[in-house]
Amino acid sequence: MMQSKANFYQQEVVQLLKQVIEPTLNNDIVSLGMVRNLRIVDDYIYLRLYIGSHQHHLQPEIQSKLSSLSWCKKTYIQICTIPGVKTTLAVSSGKGGVGKSTTAVNLAAALKLQGAKVGLLDADVYGPNLPQMLGLGQADIQVINTPTGDKFLPLEAQGIKLMSVGLLAEANRPLAWRGPVLHKIITQFLQDVEWGELDYLLIDLPPGTGDAQITIIQESPICGVILVTTPQQVALADVRRNIYMFRQVGVPVLGIVENMSYLICGDCGSRTYIFGSGGGEQLAAELQAPLLGQIPIDKRICSGGDTGNLIAVSEHTSLAREVFIEIAIALNTTFSTANKLNQSV
Ligand code: ADP
Repeated sequence: MMQSKANFYQQEVVQLLKQVIEPTLNNDIVSLGMVRNLRIVDDYIYLRLYIGSHQHHLQPEIQSKLSSLSWCKKTYIQICTIPGVKTTLAVSSGKGGVGKSTTAVNLAAALKLQGAKVGLLDADVYGPNLPQMLGLGQADIQVINTPTGDKFLPLEAQGIKLMSVGLLAEANRPLAWRGPVLHKIITQFLQDVEWGELDYLLIDLPPGTGDAQITIIQESPICGVILVTTPQQVALADVRRNIYMFRQVGVPVLGIVENMSYLICGDCGSRTYIFGSGGGEQLAAELQAPLLGQIPIDKRICSGGDTGNLIAVSEHTSLAREVFIEIAIALNTTFSTANKLNQSV
């Protein structure tokens, strides 16, 4: 009896929360994965609200919606946000080596090219390599004193702010953090970095579905995930497990980037689909998420990745560069109204 009453209350609350619309994305806050840990205890509602720094207006809207419930004495909303950061996006993959970090760093550079302020969080604790991809060697991380405590100061390369476990680790020492240590490092990253004002924070997630990934996804206000795969990877269980993980937390998958899609012949320009074709499309259809782009195999991606020469901002035209820029424009079109709205305030 008690259980069914609790269920009824829960459904009632979810129905009302679904009436709160995030104006830029034109979708409700439940579908956007912003409401988590909803609990109803006696006549009190508790929830966590995962938002960007420009979305604080949602809190009074929720309070006002839920105030129509006659049985509810009070609603407690815990705001979860990364200070100064508007839109947090994650880049993920089922397995390592598919080009997840390459995609993250090139999308960051391409978003920067659109005039956005961009930060990169290298959370790939098992193989952090973004500093190298941005042309940074081992650098000392500075800690600064702020009114809210000591904070790590991100590095900056090519106009992109960067924080990485690779920067905290001692050179040449393999990272083998596990369990509570890993959890602590990750939550520290999320809360203790002084990003300043960012339009976008891109999180390069570790591959797979372990502790680290789940912690980051649960603890951060991720607006959506970009899934990177290669054509031959799509049939694999890793990719599906990855998707399942996001769906469980309620974080939307924004789309799929198929990397290493084909090789372009240097002489005649014809395409060879080394790893097969149609895989990304098939996965996109299954997921009902868009195929954001197909990136060809390009040796300049590989050589540039070691020296900080990013193909997305290279002066040489290439299909890979075009695709990264197209994806960045699409992302910016989806999320930028919020950024513009906030700028005009
Ligand atoms: P992940 O983050 O998924 O482990 P990386 O982004 O580190 O993968 O890429 C693995 C390797 O493959 C790197 O050496 C990178 O330069 C290379 N690479 C990634 N995408 C391409 C591509 N489209 N063409 C050529 N080399 C690529």
